[in-house]
Amino acid sequence: MADAVDKEQWEQLREKLTVTPRLVWDQVDEAERAEIMAYAERYKRFLNRAKTEREAVAEIEAQARAAGFADLARGEPGERCFYNYKGKTIALMVRGRRPLTEGLRLVAAHIDAPRLDLKQYPLYEDTDLVFLKTHYYGGIKKYQWLARPLALHGVVLRADGTRVELSIGEDPEDPVFTVLDLLPHLARKVQMDKKVSEAFEGEKLNVLVGSLPLGDKDTKERFKLALLKYLQDTYGITEEDLVSAELEVVPAGPARDVGWDRSLVAAYGQDDRSCAYPALEAILTLTAPEHTCMALFYDKEEVGSDGNTSAKSCLLEELVEQLLEREGLSPLLRRRVLMASRAISADVNGALDPDYPEVHEKRNAAKLGYGVCLTKYTGHGGKYMANDAHAEYLAWLRRIFNEAGVIWQAAHLGKVDEGGGGTIAKYLAVHGLEIIDSGPPVLSMHSPFEVASKADLYMTYKAFRTFFQAPV
Ligand code: MN
Ligand code: MN
Repeated sequence: MADAVDKEQWEQLREKLTVTPRLVWDQVDEAERAEIMAYAERYKRFLNRAKTEREAVAEIEAQARAAGFADLARGEPGERCFYNYKGKTIALMVRGRRPLTEGLRLVAAHIDAPRLDLKQYPLYEDTDLVFLKTHYYGGIKKYQWLARPLALHGVVLRADGTRVELSIGEDPEDPVFTVLDLLPHLARKVQMDKKVSEAFEGEKLNVLVGSLPLGDKDTKERFKLALLKYLQDTYGITEEDLVSAELEVVPAGPARDVGWDRSLVAAYGQDDRSCAYPALEAILTLTAPEHTCMALFYDKEEVGSDGNTSAKSCLLEELVEQLLEREGLSPLLRRRVLMASRAISADVNGALDPDYPEVHEKRNAAKLGYGVCLTKYTGHGGKYMANDAHAEYLAWLRRIFNEAGVIWQAAHLGKVDEGGGGTIAKYLAVHGLEIIDSGPPVLSMHSPFEVASKADLYMTYKAFRTFFQAPV
């Protein structure tokens, strides 16, 4: 009898003292389970419409306009506004009840994703086939881009400034493109016997786009010429126009449900659209928050946040100055506003992969299905190149998430010294604001077909919404 009492006591003690990971599916009721599934449908629609940073900005602006957001760049009045910068980065803002000097609530995601960019003189023919030269963008495993259907998205600017927007390979009726791979029968020396990092060369990521000739066998470069004639007839562009173009080769096809139970989503670009979309939906549905809220959708994260549309740019400071001026306040208060602000660097974490447990440290790895991750720091080897969120800030986030029923997990990327990576958190942290990385765990991250749990995707949305709304 005494034993049973003891046992019960120890169980109660365990319950009280130990931290137990919570599987989202165990925690939600029927109604919330339905919300999880419905959210995933809206999310997939966004993924399909926003495969490049330019398309993401256009889609975000369209949704903002439809929700009644005013154009800040045009000086339109409104409590809710957006600012589209160069068509590659965009911010949405909702005015809060408190003065700006009490700080903003920022959720900052990125909308660029690893891909193949066309070179400036991309078109050539070889062996009676026509190809496009590329330079890969961001961290890819090159072999993942071979022998698969690819789509071409982007813009071509003619010298007179007129533009052609392209998206080929997404409609089931469209043709697709592809990068060739070598047959295994002949691949032993040039691929199989080499290290993976050496077996697949960036310079060989050439995209096959045609094989019909023009004229007769005496016509010079008649396969390339046929393609150029097609481009001229269809789009009114010449080879020189491709110099002022940004054409991105991305995996063709829509986002898909994975699994008989449809519990997972697989798609290209979930890093970081799995964070951009919830930031968008959270701010679009926000009404009269305490603090002024801002959702930022940055470009160039995958190449180190360099360039004027990146998180290292002066965009955030400029936006705060514009908001201050709108309130009749001095733009010199910019720094005070930013230092009083709280931010989420909305980005994904690499989920524990059961086939490669050796790269993860299980106790601290992100697990699929266990909710949105709170990643205190990223970086590598001795926490270099990382933003390290303050304990006080984590304590506050834990509290507001727990109170709102947000299922979350704390997570680190990989074993110590295994590798590592960075996000935009450290570039925004220089402004003095509180910031932490947060987003869903993702499997097959940075691949053409990234996998995420619908449960985690929804909890990311719930976390961002809670963050925007929480008073203090
Ligand atoms: Mn990312
Ligand atoms: Mn990434």
